[in-house]
Amino acid sequence: MAQITVVRTVKALRRQVAAWQAAGERVALVPTMGALHEGHISLVRAAHRRADRVIVSIFVNPTQFAPNEDFSKYPRTFAQDRAMLTQARADLIYAPTVDVMYPAGACTTVSLDGPAKAGLEDAFRPTHFAGVATIVAKLFTQCGPDVALFGEKDFQQLKVVTQMARDLDLPVNVIGCPTVRERDGLAMSSRNRYLLPDDRARAAVVPSVLRQAAENLRNGVTPARAMKNARSALEKAGFVVDYVEARDAGTLAPLTRGQRDNIRLLVAAKIGATRLIDNMAV
Ligand code: AMP
Repeated sequence: MAQITVVRTVKALRRQVAAWQAAGERVALVPTMGALHEGHISLVRAAHRRADRVIVSIFVNPTQFAPNEDFSKYPRTFAQDRAMLTQARADLIYAPTVDVMYPAGACTTVSLDGPAKAGLEDAFRPTHFAGVATIVAKLFTQCGPDVALFGEKDFQQLKVVTQMARDLDLPVNVIGCPTVRERDGLAMSSRNRYLLPDDRARAAVVPSVLRQAAENLRNGVTPARAMKNARSALEKAGFVVDYVEARDAGTLAPLTRGQRDNIRLLVAAKIGATRLIDNMAV
């Protein structure tokens, strides 16, 4: 099978998208940082159901990593990614360099509020979503897709991008797709490969704690009690918990008194040197 085409410049990307759209074809964009796994491929499949052409961007975005985070060590597996996307019959890889995305002198960013300031990821990664939103806005305007697909795995990110597209009138339909999990329930993530064997074995505690908390809430346990239990279960399993919270699934705001519907559980916790995030509907 011929390998999928790779473009690295905005000009080449736009030329291809213009040709497709001139032929009446709908174009989908799946933004990624590479190190692809089945979760990413599920987005490609969902994209095929909604569009005629599927573009996958691969760009490890420096501005969404804090100085103490893993930007330089983030896994880069381009040859394998390309093979997986060829197999998944994506139509184009857009893999710009840092210079293409951030030319010298670039100084404009997207400023966020609402779901980006919910006190979840933003409380522990204060510069993260500005970096995400700026790069996603650029990808949208560079590519001009009809639809863009994002994973619910990064639930707060999905909310931030959806809100940004609405607020800035970006003409793209943002679609969220369900989290793909390993057999033991662990949400697939490019960072799972960092897990030492012992930590990998324990990592499935995260989704099982969320499942238990969701069940407790459905059975009438108060959110405060359910979250307290979830936190102690995680700590007992050796996690350092950044947050485990029950929030409104629409806005990510704290629950109103007595709220029983439309609840999302969100967690971030470290095991060893690896930080895991996950979330679940109640
Ligand atoms: P990343 O490469 O980690 O930036 O992720 C690229 C896209 O894939 C984002 O929209 C993620 O939410 C999504 N994604 C990552 N892991 C999963 C997963 N396990 N299931 C579904 N989508 C995922």
